[in-house]
Amino acid sequence: MRAVFVGTGGSWPSPERNVMAFALGMGREVLLFDCGEGTQRQLMRSSVSFMRISKIFVSHFHGDHFLGIPGLIQSMALNDRKEPLEIYGPAGTEELVQTLTRLGYFTPTYEVRVKDMQSGDEVKCDGYSVRCMDASHNVPTLAFAVEEEPRPGKFSLEKAKELGIPAGPLYSKLQAGETVTHAGKTFTPDMVMGPPRRGRKVVYTGDTKPCAEIEELAAGADLLVHDATSAADLEEKANAYGHSSSRQAAELAAKAKVRTLALVHISPRYEETGQLLKDAKDVFPNVILPKDLDELEIRLADG
Ligand SMILES: [Zn+2]
Repeated sequence: MRAVFVGTGGSWPSPERNVMAFALGMGREVLLFDCGEGTQRQLMRSSVSFMRISKIFVSHFHGDHFLGIPGLIQSMALNDRKEPLEIYGPAGTEELVQTLTRLGYFTPTYEVRVKDMQSGDEVKCDGYSVRCMDASHNVPTLAFAVEEEPRPGKFSLEKAKELGIPAGPLYSKLQAGETVTHAGKTFTPDMVMGPPRRGRKVVYTGDTKPCAEIEELAAGADLLVHDATSAADLEEKANAYGHSSSRQAAELAAKAKVRTLALVHISPRYEETGQLLKDAKDVFPNVILPKDLDELEIRLADG
């Protein structure tokens, strides 16, 4: 699982940072969270292909989070995409995407499937799911959690040998969850398999003040990508506009016991981000402030 910080700036693009987009490479598939203007070109400069995006999750309809969609869907068509594209977002997404796909002389070469989501909804996918919760912004905004399905426990060769199960096809059957018999004895998978291991979890907040819903959604996440519009000294102002300071993002990360916190949606007022990072690190040590196009491999907690 690979996180790509496609655009990390808030509000409008600056020479340092493009506006918001976060991609998650899941095998051959890419999930995109928000799609600010210029996202497709940013993606071309990253390790993930924009043609591999299977689903786009839009947190809300402020321009810095969705204006890249029409360009992206048109480029996909010009590159002869055939696979359907799914787009999810808060109430109004279906209507908005309809408008975006009608812009200019453009006919998609593929199906664009759009679905409005409500807090608590979940999209079940192959091997993982994406769940959303209300964020606390000044317009309706959703935060998203990607959760891999638990993986089966580890097969214990030692236990299998102890029990006298011969190596070979019986091992594969037990690993596949089947009960087997040998020499008149019955063996169930739990006799040789360790406990199921949890999958990885990544949470993307969109724009938000710190809120209980996101704290709950982020619980135990391997990576939390959180709004950090300002440093601590401008916290009140950030909150008034429905945003968080880096310090507040760190407080929430500590409470939610996440493994790594990534600070994004950095206000264009900051050319230097040292203070933002320091304010967060004082509260929560495992924090990063990615630049555009930084990438992070998300490994399983138990190796
Ligand atoms: Zn916003």
